Amino acid sequence: MINLYDLIEYARGQFFGEPAAQIFTGLCLELKTAAPNQLFVALRNENGDTHRHIEAAIRQGVSGVLCMHPPTCDITGVSVILVRDTTEALILWARGMLEKYGTTVITVTGSSGKTSTVSGLKHALSARYKVHAPTISQAYTYLGIPLAVASLRPEHDCLILRLNPSRPGELSTALRIARPRALVVTNIHHAYIDQFGDPDAIADEIRVMVAGVAPGGLVVLNQDDERVRQLADAAQAQVATVSIDNFGADYMAYNIVNGWSGTGFDLRAQGEKFIGHWTPLLGRSAIYSALAALSVAHFFGIPLSETLRHITDTEMTNGRMKPLIGTNDCIVIDDSYSATPEETLDALDWLAQIREDNQRVIFILGDLSHLGDYNQQGHRQVGQRAAQVADLFITQGIQASIAARAALDAGMESRNVHSTFSVHDTIQTLRERYQLTEDDLILVKGGKSAQMSRLVEALIRPIPPPVDDDASSPPQAPFQPLRPTWIEVDTNIIAHNVRAIKQRIGDQVALMAVVKADAYGHGAILTSQTALLNGAEYLAVANLQEALELRGGGISAPILIMNYVPTYGIAQAIQQGITVTVFDLDNARLLDRTAGEFGGRLKVHVEIDSGMGRMGVLPSDAVNLFRHLLNMQNLEVEGVYTHFSSADEDEGYTEQQAQAFNDIIRPLRAAGLRIRYIHAANSPATFASDRHYFNMVRTGLAMYGLQPSPSVPLPPELRPALTWKTVVAQVKKLPPGHPVGYGNTYRTQGEETTAVICVGYADGFRRAPKTWREVLIHGRRAPVIGRISMEKTVVNVSHIPGVATGDEVVLLGRQGDEVITAEEIAAQLGTINYEVVCAVLPRVPRR
Ligand SMILES: *Cc1c(COP(=O)(O)O)cnc(C)c1O
Repeated sequence: MINLYDLIEYARGQFFGEPAAQIFTGLCLELKTAAPNQLFVALRNENGDTHRHIEAAIRQGVSGVLCMHPPTCDITGVSVILVRDTTEALILWARGMLEKYGTTVITVTGSSGKTSTVSGLKHALSARYKVHAPTISQAYTYLGIPLAVASLRPEHDCLILRLNPSRPGELSTALRIARPRALVVTNIHHAYIDQFGDPDAIADEIRVMVAGVAPGGLVVLNQDDERVRQLADAAQAQVATVSIDNFGADYMAYNIVNGWSGTGFDLRAQGEKFIGHWTPLLGRSAIYSALAALSVAHFFGIPLSETLRHITDTEMTNGRMKPLIGTNDCIVIDDSYSATPEETLDALDWLAQIREDNQRVIFILGDLSHLGDYNQQGHRQVGQRAAQVADLFITQGIQASIAARAALDAGMESRNVHSTFSVHDTIQTLRERYQLTEDDLILVKGGKSAQMSRLVEALIRPIPPPVDDDASSPPQAPFQPLRPTWIEVDTNIIAHNVRAIKQRIGDQVALMAVVKADAYGHGAILTSQTALLNGAEYLAVANLQEALELRGGGISAPILIMNYVPTYGIAQAIQQGITVTVFDLDNARLLDRTAGEFGGRLKVHVEIDSGMGRMGVLPSDAVNLFRHLLNMQNLEVEGVYTHFSSADEDEGYTEQQAQAFNDIIRPLRAAGLRIRYIHAANSPATFASDRHYFNMVRTGLAMYGLQPSPSVPLPPELRPALTWKTVVAQVKKLPPGHPVGYGNTYRTQGEETTAVICVGYADGFRRAPKTWREVLIHGRRAPVIGRISMEKTVVNVSHIPGVATGDEVVLLGRQGDEVITAEEIAAQLGTINYEVVCAVLPRVPRR
């Protein structure tokens, strides 16, 4: 409950208009949680300014608003309180309320294991006290404290807070609001390294809080964590140490027994031994949680024997080492809530101990997040350990695929390691290649933004989910690239497009996925893995570098290079099993000789120039070429192909080309030459008719959901997969006649509200001769004004209310009901959609 007059008093607020409601049932910091009788707080921070949501919050029924400037909407029946700074007001109010109620605060912090520790503490202390331990999303950080205080009542004796050190300064602010009587520090891992730089900086952050516990209080430290142990010097309060198997600690658990239904331990504490106790939670952190609960409860006067009994009631929490029954009665350990590398290694150790001989251990890893500079190393460590523990290792996501590579490097067999990029494809891999049984033990882990809980849901449904054709993407966690323009690629859409193409061409025709130019800017590895899992059997690239990148990513499918490969690359091509294109006799001889010198056999596809006038052997020379090829010992002719120049606009010419191609193929076949793949059709030819499929098609464009041409549209179920985004940096009003950008080429007509967005020609956002006409903000079109700079662009947002710093801008793709297609931009720039997507420079981050 929140009382209006407490707010006025502690937060130093002033009424705006007539006060109405005096009591609010809760605090709401986001529009999406606004509900009747609550107090809406308008905040201004790096996520934007929520003053613009006041009107909508009132419409959703809130009866109070705390804000920094007066609302412009109708506020009848709503109490509006004005303060200088709403964040500061919440801090003052929460601190004031805790003092007024005299509530004892117990805080749990550290990189992981906080939730189970809070749960253990709550059960232990509830034996004697009235405990309030609300679950509040860690995303709120220190603002979680006012949220917790909002549901606190005077009769509560103590409040248990869970604080996540997610950025420097966080805990110092928390300390200003609520000084703990007892503090538990669980561990310090490689968590939020993007914010802190290294774990020592996290230790410094926690040190402030340790020092802030007053002399009469208690600090509980994990003795087994080097950095946590060293925090003891900072404490003014009494320190209690907890440990597994370390005799120096005040509370020591030993004789650990890991089981399905809980974890057993003996305890040595306060000079006594307690034999044969257990907690229903699993894994190492379960023990630390129990020890923390024992020490805090003891500090508050509850005997150890009593707490040991209550600990058995601790509940498991979803997403944290929770065993579940999955498809075909396999066992799924759901540890999907969040993960640090250390925690993941602990979970793998646990798995190694618990597994039985007949069990197959499957480890599924999503991206670990916020690792900053430690990203490579953190994922690699996990991959190396996975290679030792798991029988089958599947990674889901771009970062996690680093772990797959590390597992391969560590000697894990490639048939037991897979990288996927979506839930759908992970399930598909499990279903198609590995029949799950009751002897399978699956551990699912990943950082919070990997949302691996979605995979767990799919795994525990009684029947594996059907192929999800309209897989719409889930809401994504915020992406925080250091370069504030980025590409988002929806792998579900690529998967869906690939399946649609495969369905069109049928089982008798193979699909070669064209992934040259980093998969037309979509990300080569991600696209290739997705295409292979959804029906493609061959990949095509433009050069050896692209081919080797795919091999480096653990892709073992056949790859064709559709371009000239210099002889110095042939040894690598043979070693890595890469197929190259033969286009004339000289080229064939050179390849044959080089392969012979290397002592290997090179796979080739012969390209026929049936009329495009680009690469390939002319029909008139083809017979001679094949005659020689038959005698070249070091070349294996696996395919013959041609390329259409005008499949998107000239059916007659395509027919002629196909005819010329057939005239070469037919006699070869008649002569008994066995050629495995014969291919001609690109995306336009694949969708224009079904006459030129031969036994393979090569599609690029259609996989990405881009239109071959106005005369060859794609069926509507194929959709674009790429969105290019940036954010608003600055918003301001310019007076009439004010120039914008280099060369003053634009002058404001009247007063104009402009937004500077973080993209320019250095990102591939073209400057001249023509550029984008508009971008999308708040789902509406905002015209680009003035010249494009190297890394900035200005747009006019006069007609879009409430645009603020940090708002997302879409340059290509959909936002709300508006969409900017690659075709629209192509028409504007005077080029084709292929060039539009390829032109986004590779250094723009992708997710
Ligand atoms: C790029 C390319 C393709 C793919 O063309 P799409 O129109 O994108 O399907 C096929 N074949 C060759 C030789 C190519 O260079």
